[in-house]
Formats: sequence, C-alpha cells, structure tokens
Amino acid sequence: MKIILIGIQGAGKSTQGNLLSEKLKAPYLSTGHIFRDLAKEHSPLGRYIKEIMNAGYLIPDKKTLEIVSEYLKRPEYEKGYILDGFPRTIVQAKSFKNGIDKVIYLKVSDKEALWRLSYRNSDARQDETLTALRKRIELFHELTEPVLEYYRKKRLLVEIDGEKEIKEIYKEILSKIKIDP
Ligand code: AMP
Repeated sequence: MKIILIGIQGAGKSTQGNLLSEKLKAPYLSTGHIFRDLAKEHSPLGRYIKEIMNAGYLIPDKKTLEIVSEYLKRPEYEKGYILDGFPRTIVQAKSFKNGIDKVIYLKVSDKEALWRLSYRNSDARQDETLTALRKRIELFHELTEPVLEYYRKKRLLVEIDGEKEIKEIYKEILSKIKIDP
C-alpha cells in the first residue's frame, strides 16, 4: 500500500507514520529526515539545504523531486511505503505519479501545532526556531493546502482530526483505509 501523510509540523505525522509502517509492514520515509541528513553533509548541497531548512523554507521542487524519486527507486519501496512530508506543493503532486492508494491529512490547528512543538522543544532541532516554525505553517497554508484539494478531487484524501488521542487517530486511520485493527 502506498500512503501519503500530510499535515503541518506537529500534527503527529511521524507518530502515525511509524505505527502504520509497523502495521502495514511498509517502510516509513520522511522527506524531512532525508533533508536533515543531507544538511549534515559538509558539501555545497548540504550547506544549501541546511540554510533553506533552518529558515523554514521549502527545498526547490526540482531538487526535491530528484531526491525523492531517487529514494523511491530502491527495492525496499517497491511494494509500498508510508511517505511523510511529500508532496508539499502542486508541482510536486502533479509530477508524482506513483499509484498512491490514500492520502491522509492529519488536521490540527496552527495554535495546537505551535503549542505541541514548543512543549516538546527541550531538545529542539536546529531548524525548529519559532520563526522557522511559523514560516513552515504559513507555507503549508499557501502551498500545501492546494495539494489537499488536488487529492480530494481525485477522491484519495482522507481527513482525520489530529487533535484526538494518538490511539484514536490510529484507529480512525485504519478504519478509513479499510484495515482491521
Ligand atoms: P519536515 O520534517 O517534514 O517538517 O521537513 C523539514 C524541512 O525539510 C522543511 O521545512 C523543508 O525545508 C524540507 N522539506 C521536507 N519535505 C519537503 C518537500 N516535500 N519539499 C520541499 N522541502 C521539503
């Protein structure tokens, strides 16, 4: 099964993504993780990505598409995957033709997301400054909401209230993708 998780930072995508990955025996792949790893490299590409991420901006579509399609060519992703953080723009969504089964939108308010992130931030990542978080939320509304509409029209979108308990959200996702708990 090929599943996409969409939501603002702090919506619980990685929590649910890891639960789903275990349940469906499909690998979990997060573009945020990929880019954070690349940002650690002492190369021009690493420095370039780090700068963009720390400001809360998106990596340009062309680069993102190049990197994601390279990853998804690996044999472990052949049968399916849980993809978190991609696609985030209409250009990415339209260029991504991988036979997606479901797109799960974990919906939480901006206020709740900021609250969760400031709460968990005793071990804040370098790209999690308040300015970067706000920018990321702003860009979600501007660039990623049209992606939701794109998948809604294709009848692939499943909308989930991400402000409930983790277990409840998980159960709801399973029922909406028609998997027994
Ligand atoms: P995340 O952990 O998903 O919030 O991603 C962290 C950062 O990685 C984002 O703020 C972007 O700079 C970059 N990133 C992750 N996924 C994408 C994507 N699909 N397109 C562009 N940039 C991305």
